Amino acid sequence: MSDSQIHSTVDLGAAPGVHKGHLAIPYSHNLGGWANLLVPFGMLRNGAGPTVLLMAGNHGDEYPGQVAILRLWRELTAEDVSGTLLLLPTLSQPAAKAATRLSPLDGKNFNRCFPGNPTGTPSEMLAHYLSTVLFPMADIVIDLHTGGRSMNFLPCAHMHLVPDHAQREKMIIATEAFLTDVTFLYTDVAGTGLLPAEAERQGKTVITTELGGGEPVFAEIHKITQRGLKNVLRHCGVLQGAVEQRKAPARWVQSLSRDDYNFAPESGLWEAAVDVGGDVRKGDDLGYIHFLENPSRAPLVVTANEDGVVVANRAPSLVGQGDCVAVLAHDTDPRKLP
Ligand code: CA
Repeated sequence: MSDSQIHSTVDLGAAPGVHKGHLAIPYSHNLGGWANLLVPFGMLRNGAGPTVLLMAGNHGDEYPGQVAILRLWRELTAEDVSGTLLLLPTLSQPAAKAATRLSPLDGKNFNRCFPGNPTGTPSEMLAHYLSTVLFPMADIVIDLHTGGRSMNFLPCAHMHLVPDHAQREKMIIATEAFLTDVTFLYTDVAGTGLLPAEAERQGKTVITTELGGGEPVFAEIHKITQRGLKNVLRHCGVLQGAVEQRKAPARWVQSLSRDDYNFAPESGLWEAAVDVGGDVRKGDDLGYIHFLENPSRAPLVVTANEDGVVVANRAPSLVGQGDCVAVLAHDTDPRKLP
């Protein structure tokens, strides 16, 4: 039993059909004493099948997944579904409206708020509701990300290397069903309290992505997102229709060492030397940091720690000390890892 203060206008025990409403998070502000922050929440239910929790907008400024779920919200009927499909198109709507990563309401990074707090800030309360109400209901948890405004990612489905091998195998197969050319094993180098980590801890099959990033979202990224998402939902059995098979095996890569994540030693102007998807050899230049106030100073060179492929680059040219500028990944086989 959850001690959440969040009210769902969708009855989670409702009969089969389409149910659309909100999660209402108590939130007072100066012109709203008894106000609620409303998070759009939908449920499609039809007969036997898995329960799939589908989310985007964990970080507000990551839009392709939000667009894809908004489409499903309007397009799907209950008859398209087998089981229960829970839709949260925009977890952090104040951040999405502000085009920010962090919530402007409470300054929180939603993806560092888990398992949450029933009496915390709006972000912490929503994280707690997910952890204690929606994750326990779900067999499969899908959280669609991009690099946001700060990073440009090679479009990829990705996952943690969870310790439980049965859970890991389910996640590997589901990650491959997203149909991206590259599939990516990542580790948490920037804090704890992530949504997928809590869902994994609860034993769920967790499917996550990094679908581009930076300010522009090209049509190709939307296509990759929407095609992959529908295929994953079919693979899970919650969306009816034939599962599209991969034309080529997934290229699995990993960034499991902290050294794969390159952080700017100094502030300056970032110049990428390799675009995402580019292969490099150990010692190759990944990029340069120039110094606006000191044109005579040679740029600082960021180099590859090993052979690999660049999976993410810093998106804005301006870079601050400590910002991530490039992520290098290395070919791997997740089924052979301990
Ligand atoms: Ca993200």
